[in-house]
Amino acid sequence: MECKLCGEEVDELFSVKVEGRKRKICEDCIERLQEEGSIAEEALSAMRNMMEYKGRF
Ligand SMILES: [Zn+2]
Repeated sequence: MECKLCGEEVDELFSVKVEGRKRKICEDCIERLQEEGSIAEEALSAMRNMMEYKGRF
């Protein structure tokens, strides 16, 4: 799958709300946007739950 934000080919994309719009992006972009503060905290916790469910943390 291709990340809509950076264009990288990644195994997995995550649906997160970025600046009020839902986008499918890769983990790298999520981390970057998180540092910029562009991702809502609720979206992040949803993503963390999803990743925990898959046993990645
Ligand atoms: Zn990306």
